[in-house]
Amino acid sequence: MKKMSKQTRKTGSSVSAGISVSWKAIAGAFAILAATGMTVSAFSAQNVSGAKDSLSVVAAIFPAYDWAREVIGDNTETADLTLLLDSGVDLHSYQPTVDDILTISNCDVFIYVGGESDAWVTDALSQAANEDMQVIRLMDVLKDSVKEEELVEGMQAGDDHESDGDSEESAEETPEYDEHVWLSLKNAKILTDAIAQALEEADPDNAEAYSENAKVYMDKLTALDEEYQKAALAGERDTILFADRFPFRYLTDDYDLNYYAAFAGCSAETEASFETILFLAEKADELELPVILTIDGSDQTIAEAVINSTNAKDQKILSMNSMQSITAGDMEDGASYLSVMEENLEVLKEALS
Ligand SMILES: [Zn+2]
Repeated sequence: MKKMSKQTRKTGSSVSAGISVSWKAIAGAFAILAATGMTVSAFSAQNVSGAKDSLSVVAAIFPAYDWAREVIGDNTETADLTLLLDSGVDLHSYQPTVDDILTISNCDVFIYVGGESDAWVTDALSQAANEDMQVIRLMDVLKDSVKEEELVEGMQAGDDHESDGDSEESAEETPEYDEHVWLSLKNAKILTDAIAQALEEADPDNAEAYSENAKVYMDKLTALDEEYQKAALAGERDTILFADRFPFRYLTDDYDLNYYAAFAGCSAETEASFETILFLAEKADELELPVILTIDGSDQTIAEAVINSTNAKDQKILSMNSMQSITAGDMEDGASYLSVMEENLEVLKEALS
């Protein structure tokens, strides 16, 4: 009996399977690093010999990459910037490759979120060849303004606690912090400032330029933040509804907006229960919402089910981009943190109209 239930749980939980694969990949990468100890020392020797005198900056996620890009500005000859997650893999299921780990190991400035999804970073950093590396953990920069994930009425509780591999007791005691800190323009300003300070310290020769670029960019963030505030005040309503996961808590809190959603944060759940769909449909009717929201990467199944269960049945499905799977191609097409947040603002205006 015991054996069977264990087996069922193993096959039933894709998340736990994903995590074990990811750790295997990392372990494999370290094994290769250890086996080719030469490679690492060869890399470091290259750095020391001065073959490379530009500053190497690596960002794990797109928003941090884009903020660093703004701070570096025209100084692309003195600083080179790499985005780790540029293949469109959702950041919650990202697994570093051997190349990624080498890239991190040799960089001068490394920027990452520090949430549950990038727990692999700790191990990657312990292998770092560059002892003077500046590491920016965004959640540390924000300190007490990091929020815990919140379960609002109607939201389906995720089961991702269970699949952490922790004992259930300890998992319940640990608060789950919401790692989507970049979805607040106010946070973006604080984080850009922190990135600028790290770059100034790592590359004093260009400190003035970094500081100036950061100032110009932070003014743009402030201006867009004000646009959001205006839109929130001008809106017909103050509640939005996501028939989806909900990574936008930092944004809705910034402008005192209420929300309903199928799942908290980026819960591993993807299938909404009948109860959840009915709850969201009733709310959409009650509040006469014109828009049902989804996030990037949604197949809209839940949104369609919600609309079909409303009386009105005339809601529009719109998507807000949480920037969790921006690709190199998107960037070539000009995607930037600001451009995505501007598009999100237009969607928000319609949802509040
Ligand atoms: Zn997420």
